[in-house]
Amino acid sequence: MERPVFRFAPSPTGRLHRGHAFSALTARRAADAAGGLFRLRIEDIDRVRCRPEFEAGILEDLAWLGLAWDGPVLRQSERGEAYAAALARLEGDGLAYRCFRTRREVAEAMTRAPHGEEPVFFGQRLAAGEEAARLDAGEAFAWRLDVRTAAARAGPLGFLETGAGPAGETGRRSVAPEAAGDIVLARKDIGVAYHLAVVVDDAFQGVTHVVRGCDLFGATSVQRLLQHLLGLPEPVYRHHRLLVGPDGKRYAKRDQAETLQAIRARGLSPDQLIAELELD
Ligand code: GLU
Repeated sequence: MERPVFRFAPSPTGRLHRGHAFSALTARRAADAAGGLFRLRIEDIDRVRCRPEFEAGILEDLAWLGLAWDGPVLRQSERGEAYAAALARLEGDGLAYRCFRTRREVAEAMTRAPHGEEPVFFGQRLAAGEEAARLDAGEAFAWRLDVRTAAARAGPLGFLETGAGPAGETGRRSVAPEAAGDIVLARKDIGVAYHLAVVVDDAFQGVTHVVRGCDLFGATSVQRLLQHLLGLPEPVYRHHRLLVGPDGKRYAKRDQAETLQAIRARGLSPDQLIAELELD
């Protein structure tokens, strides 16, 4: 039997904090319990926000935690061709369109999707003449998924949740990808975007089990749709709780959460930190 494959996929946009340690250790332990492999992927598609020193910091912090991974580290910044091929397939299937709107124009056109909590954007392919004129004029564009056409063509889809979403969602779940609107497949500046890169790379790395924070539970619907459209295998999902700090708020880079580097510097041992994390 093939060994199950788990992964940790941090973005090197800052130093890791306790929430990352919790996530990485949860995934590593799940891999060990299943006799599986544990892959590391550096999600560095955003060339402005990601920095090599943060990647080095991730590797250093994981080593300090005693966390080893199997096989080479995969860097998304080196995977442009694979993303372009996936995008070309969606485009060839008539499911992706060029969107020339500015951020502000997108925000102004947002509407609430059925079952959606947040206003989202639905657009459409421009008429051929207008599109050609805008391309000739050198206007920048993003690629977006025509989610309604894609979902209709795919038919009902689901995924298996073995952890829980933010509202306790668990078990076999049906997807509602329209709630995300016409997600960006490729950003204007970097030629790819989060959802497309994740599904292409989870398949490339042979990931069978996605273990990650429940803040990404909502992303699973559209990722499951993309897997189906691209003929990629369906992993099992386990979304875990998010750690909260003493103030009751979840750890986040933007809130200047104490980094593992700082925790190490004040003399806490990895075992002490791991005990504090109260892994599930
Ligand atoms: N790179 C994402 C993050 O750091 C995680 C992506 C995923 O686990 O699917 O939040």
